[in-house]
Amino acid sequence: MSTEQQAGYFGEFGGSQVPPSLQNVLDILEENFNRFKDDEDFKNELDYYFREYVGRQSPLYFAENLTNRLGGAKIYLKREDLNHTGSHKINNVLGQILLAKRMGAKRIIAETGAGQHGVATATVCAMFNMECVIYMGAEDIKRQALNVFRIELLGAKVVSVTEGQGRLKEAVDAAFADLVENYENSFYLLGSAVGPHPFPTMVKHFQSVISRESRAQILQKEGKLPTAVIACVGGGSNAIGSFAEYIADEDVRLIGVEPDQAPSLTEGTPGDLHGFRCLVLQDEAGNPQPTYSIAAGLDYPGAGPEHSQLKVSGRGEYVTISNEEVLDAFMTLSKEEGIIPALESSHAVAYALKFVPTLSKEDIVIVNISGRGDKDVEQVYDMLAKR
Ligand SMILES: *Cc1c(COP(=O)(O)O)cnc(C)c1O
Repeated sequence: MSTEQQAGYFGEFGGSQVPPSLQNVLDILEENFNRFKDDEDFKNELDYYFREYVGRQSPLYFAENLTNRLGGAKIYLKREDLNHTGSHKINNVLGQILLAKRMGAKRIIAETGAGQHGVATATVCAMFNMECVIYMGAEDIKRQALNVFRIELLGAKVVSVTEGQGRLKEAVDAAFADLVENYENSFYLLGSAVGPHPFPTMVKHFQSVISRESRAQILQKEGKLPTAVIACVGGGSNAIGSFAEYIADEDVRLIGVEPDQAPSLTEGTPGDLHGFRCLVLQDEAGNPQPTYSIAAGLDYPGAGPEHSQLKVSGRGEYVTISNEEVLDAFMTLSKEEGIIPALESSHAVAYALKFVPTLSKEDIVIVNISGRGDKDVEQVYDMLAKR
């Protein structure tokens, strides 16, 4: 189920505003995605790697201690943190690299901001023996030295982008420029449910495995659908994957959680960003506004087109959480359940901590734990020292 009306459009959002040279390449990509996504061999191969390489399916864990402590709805955690490489990102990169192989690509290009998508992409490129080039802003390279090293360990090349502010936006531009030049042998593996069509539709398709599993799991465990599904939103890929199979179930509330210093969906207005239309934080001239998040994966001034439409139509609910609440949630889940969540995922947990006590014991809430917190432990240590 989708809110997609004509290909690539979710209400007024989405589409593809790119130069003709890039549009040609995106058309070829769309054609191949449509050709292979439902192909039996393709699906079997993806299932094989989901199971044998990623470790799917991920558990839907009943958080009994947290449930008892909060005294409201029953809380279930969808454990994407247990995936190989520690987050949901692997679902998308596997799907796209299998498509790239079908299309005959020999070389994978990707952008990365904090480095996590770069690591995920370099991982599957190592496994499939593909050349891999990761574009990364020069500023981000300085701040994320350890992820740069991880990418290099995995055999990929990091290209420093010095244009503009040397951050994610410039890295995306550089990756698209490379694609236009080299599309005959290269595939651009994009990291979230953003960008021009067909990327948001494709990324959602591969991340929907999250809700396909969680829906079957909750029906098996509880015999009914959840009251609400809660996920954090950066670009929106783990959230749209967690929501996808519930969009048609009008009674299931879909709640996306943003940092209060990057509230694209909560406070953004319609605008154009990186070649597509979405709710975006912008100034009066239409320039994207600077955002900040203690969770690097949520530091983005826009969000995917389908989330923008879910927000405008009222089908989705979007809320914000403060840094203090995120830190508390990070510690609460660690202490109560022995699960250290990523700072990104801690946003979803933080909202659950406030929301669950307002519900009854008959209610069920699924919280998507998009990733594990090992990568954030040092940062939390420093933040607590300053508190
Ligand atoms: C990258 C990342 C996110 C944010 O990306 P989305 O596309 O919004 O899902 C959230 N959680 C974790 C653990 C991440 O690594």
